[in-house]
Amino acid sequence: MHRQRHPSPLGRDLGAELTGVNFAVAETGTLALVENEGNGRMCTTAPEVHIAVTGIEKVIARLDQLPTLLTRSATGQPISTYVDLIGAPRRAGELDGPREVHLILLDNGRSRICADPELRATLRCIRCEACLNHCPVYVRLGGHAYGTVYPGPIGGILEPQLRGLTTTGSLVDAFSLCGACSEVCPVRIPIPRLLNRLRAERVGAGADSQVQGRGSRRDPRQATVWRLWAWLHADPNRYQFLSGLLSGTGTLIPRLVRPWTRSRRPPRLASRNLHRLVREAGFGDNRQ
Ligand code: SF4
Repeated sequence: MHRQRHPSPLGRDLGAELTGVNFAVAETGTLALVENEGNGRMCTTAPEVHIAVTGIEKVIARLDQLPTLLTRSATGQPISTYVDLIGAPRRAGELDGPREVHLILLDNGRSRICADPELRATLRCIRCEACLNHCPVYVRLGGHAYGTVYPGPIGGILEPQLRGLTTTGSLVDAFSLCGACSEVCPVRIPIPRLLNRLRAERVGAGADSQVQGRGSRRDPRQATVWRLWAWLHADPNRYQFLSGLLSGTGTLIPRLVRPWTRSRRPPRLASRNLHRLVREAGFGDNRQ
């Protein structure tokens, strides 16, 4: 980016600092950092060299397109505490700021995401964290459970696209598809729709695409199970017979969720299912 050398006002070399960037403005070369703690401002003021790293999706065309209200969703503050706009290294006569500023733009799969007309919406994310705070799965699990840099709903669609469905594909199944994430997203990313798309990609269904690890979860046995499931649910008599059988025996679910129940009490199936309870209460039809 800009490069200029002046002696440090503190008379010593304070080394280099590495930061991210919330936005980079193409029109002016401005780097925008939004934060609440002040560590970003310290990192970009005291050292001699500032190295900023960001994904290519953070480049916006003009300064007047800069969104600054990240914290309203993240922490509930009315405005962000620190918004730094870094336009150039320290100039002659200025007391602080680095004498060198470097910007590293990362692609790392983002061009591939951008080429997909549906999945490119993922790159609109401004990392406000509103979707995390409203996700019923995230608020119970916490961020570390995901094992990735980006957790929560946005991590569920971003990480599998950046790192491939083979290694992080299980994330797309870790959501209830309740839709709270897309309701609160300020940039209207249709997260549940993209989760469904990635689920289909994982088993190799749907249109051809460039998503890495496509079809990595394809399993002919699973396809057979789902066909059976569809057949079962297509007929009320079939469905009620089998659900009644499973409720009565109560053995299927504990066996299937055994890893989950190593340290937890296994769920107990009700001896009478909902249909039967409804009938006994005098509602519904007389089907047995
Ligand atoms: S997906 Fe939307 S709500 Fe979630 S962090 Fe990104 S911008 Fe915020």
